[in-house]
Amino acid sequence: MKTNARVAIIGGGAIGVSLAYHLAKYGWDDVVLIEKHELTSGSTWMAAGNCSFYHSSYYCTQVNMKSIEIFKQLEEETGQSPGWHTTGSIRTADNPDRLDELGYYYSMNRCLGLDVSFVSPEEIGKLHPLIDTAGLVAGLYWPDDGDVDPASMTQAMAKGARNYGAELNLHTQVTAIEQKPSGEWLVKTDKGDITCEFVVNAAGLWAPEVSKMVGLEIPSIAIAHTHILYETINAVVERDTMLPLVRDPDRSIYLRQEMDSLILGMYEANGQQWKKHGVPWDYAQEELNPDIDNIADCIEAGIERFPVLGETGFKHVTAGPITYTPNGDPLVGPAYPLRNFFQACGYSFGITQAGGIGHYLAGWIMNGEPEIDLWHVDSRRFGSYANWAYNHEKIADTYPRLYSIFFPNEFRDAARPNRTSPIYEYQKAANAVFGDYFGWECPNYFAPEGADLYEQPSWRRSNAFEQVGRECTHMMNHAGIIDLTRFAKTWISGPGARDWLNHMTCQNVPGKDGQIALCPMLDPNGNFKSDMTITRIDADNYFCVTASVGKCHDQHWMLLNLPEDGSVQFEDLTYRMGCLVLAGPKSHAVLEKAVYGDVSNAAFPFSTCRELYVGRTKCRVNRMNYVGELGYEIFHPIEQQTSVYEALMAAGQEFDLQMVGMHAMDSMRLEKGYLAWKSEMNVHHTPLETPIAWTVKLDKDFIGKAGIVKQKEAGVPLQLVGMVVEAKDSDPWGYNPILKDGERIGMTSSGGYGHRVGKSIAMGYVPPEHTAPGTVLEVEILGRSRKAEVVSMPLYDPANEKMKA
Ligand SMILES: Cc1cc2nc3c(=O)[nH]c(=O)nc-3n(C[C@H](O)[C@H](O)[C@H](O)COP(=O)(O)OP(=O)(O)OC[C@H]3O[C@@H](n4cnc5c(N)ncnc54)[C@H](O)[C@@H]3O)c2cc1C
Repeated sequence: MKTNARVAIIGGGAIGVSLAYHLAKYGWDDVVLIEKHELTSGSTWMAAGNCSFYHSSYYCTQVNMKSIEIFKQLEEETGQSPGWHTTGSIRTADNPDRLDELGYYYSMNRCLGLDVSFVSPEEIGKLHPLIDTAGLVAGLYWPDDGDVDPASMTQAMAKGARNYGAELNLHTQVTAIEQKPSGEWLVKTDKGDITCEFVVNAAGLWAPEVSKMVGLEIPSIAIAHTHILYETINAVVERDTMLPLVRDPDRSIYLRQEMDSLILGMYEANGQQWKKHGVPWDYAQEELNPDIDNIADCIEAGIERFPVLGETGFKHVTAGPITYTPNGDPLVGPAYPLRNFFQACGYSFGITQAGGIGHYLAGWIMNGEPEIDLWHVDSRRFGSYANWAYNHEKIADTYPRLYSIFFPNEFRDAARPNRTSPIYEYQKAANAVFGDYFGWECPNYFAPEGADLYEQPSWRRSNAFEQVGRECTHMMNHAGIIDLTRFAKTWISGPGARDWLNHMTCQNVPGKDGQIALCPMLDPNGNFKSDMTITRIDADNYFCVTASVGKCHDQHWMLLNLPEDGSVQFEDLTYRMGCLVLAGPKSHAVLEKAVYGDVSNAAFPFSTCRELYVGRTKCRVNRMNYVGELGYEIFHPIEQQTSVYEALMAAGQEFDLQMVGMHAMDSMRLEKGYLAWKSEMNVHHTPLETPIAWTVKLDKDFIGKAGIVKQKEAGVPLQLVGMVVEAKDSDPWGYNPILKDGERIGMTSSGGYGHRVGKSIAMGYVPPEHTAPGTVLEVEILGRSRKAEVVSMPLYDPANEKMKA
């Protein structure tokens, strides 16, 4: 075994081997993989091997597409067949909500150019003659889906990896990982040690134990998953083409052909966690005892949908452990807060995604940035709240619901409440209907007296619609408080702080004490990394605020880029500071009454910050907000939040001050055309493509400048536009195709209903020739085209008179 390598990959399952194959293929000649047993001996060897384009995330669908592309060419490249069969697949719907969900997939998949179509029950019956279509209303059909033999596929990639020079060490167990003072990693195994620049944790079921070796706790637990292979079925033998895979999500089952028979798989209501305190190191290639009673309902459901199963005996029942994370998606990418330690674990559909993620993660490691936006699977999307206990509770809810309808507005109750603001009880008393964001309970809206404290999940306008409208109108006419305690907050200080921040953002860091500036951080290619607002406290102190869900991601980027000479200090204030946003035309009057000090326009102009006593609490008040009204972000010591809130509410009583939720904020930010992180601001776009191109200052050096200059010279390929959409009862959400004369020219980045302007709004990227206001386009919503007119943004208060009032 080598003692030095560029990268050490821990784990020889489908994921680790695919990564080794891709890194070696793309030119790294010192790739080492370490496997404690045989290749595939974790979850991989017993997987059903279903591969599919289907995924709720646009970018993960791209990962799946890449996988299938790779599987199809593996045999030609390596001489070893991965056992790929193109069978096609159908996802059925038996109710209107499911049909809406399929509509979302249809539209989103069309953005990716996938071959996908709606099929009627009759057509489903023709594609799969063994199905009973009773109760079905339609299905989605992907003709290019299929299945692969997981072990053969992994072995084919292993062969490819070795051919390209990677070293695959079997029967070698990683026992400890240390980081040397040089930053290099020392990976200790029972066969000797390896010094390397990068470590990748692809240890599947054991990934939590490997994470512990470097001091990390990751949310990944194993659940026993079962599928049943039936005895030979004559109706299958007699066919000369393979049957498509069918997923009947409303019955929580899937069925695919295996040789002369069928495999029925299921996500039963009572998923059994397996070895929830950690998988023993000596477990390998062993099936679990299937609990037939526990899956009896799914077997019955299978027989109802495919009657032939009722007449056929079981040939083999496979039960094996699969890793699950709180939302069922894997943990990939740089591990916060470490340098050069990557996660590639937590996979529950790791066969489908193996090929694609091997490709994309290899690129991420080699180039420092991912080729596509992998935020959906980024391990940093979870914070410290997502610990073992949280995951344990969450998974009990997630597993049985893996096939449940995906709704964009659904917030499940499991493992909540978790993080709460000190004013949580006040919010509850005001009928808050909460969502959870990065573990924080945040009111989405406040239900009227007597209404359900529950937002009906839907792809259409929900029962919250009217109330959200009332909250927006209230904010527009009076004043409201939004709890944004969850913001990520970082204090940057030291003699080098200003220069360093100027290097980190394309914008000029504010030059005067008390000034605030929108300061996006970019990646080296010039694309958006983070949405940051900087307040200059004084020459050596800066208060930086970024999106709450991006906390680990953004702070990781900052930490990795800190100078080593100690001239810049980094302090995380997220959990020590709360934030209440006071906004609306009456907000000034409320503030004036609540504080000691002059808050007139002259003393406290727009886009500046002041220290003010709100009641008895010293607060840092930023005169700006995300809703486009006159308003203030009031940052305060978290333990004094109740006192700040009470002072504001007491002062606001005569001005009808009320609490306002996240949904209203989102509606109002759309009307203002403000960009949202990971919607408009993702790794595919630079500020030059957006209305905040003015934040780019090319007369200085900053990370991403070279990419920006290159794009400026070449011309932007796309431009962000706002559109008013003739939506009916479902507004655009993002990932909707944008069409011109029936031809797809772009994709929405976000959308929703703007209650203050009374219009359905979408933002999206299109080629520059389609950006003139008045241009008539179409936006496809749930599979239907809707007229969309390009408008000049912002739609609400274009001159920003209200904010500056
Ligand atoms: C019954 C069943 C059906 C499934 N069906 C499908 C399906 O149809 N489609 C699909 O996409 N997915 C399916 N899956 C899920 C799929 O199998 C997994 O998502 C995938 O195999 C995960 O691969 P992996 O490489 O991450 O992990 P694993 O396959 O678990 O590999 C991890 C490897 O790391 C090694 N390792 C761990 N710790 C160390 C250490 N300290 N030192 C050295 N080596 C170490 C282990 O020995 C193991 O070989 C199924 C799983 C099961 C059980």
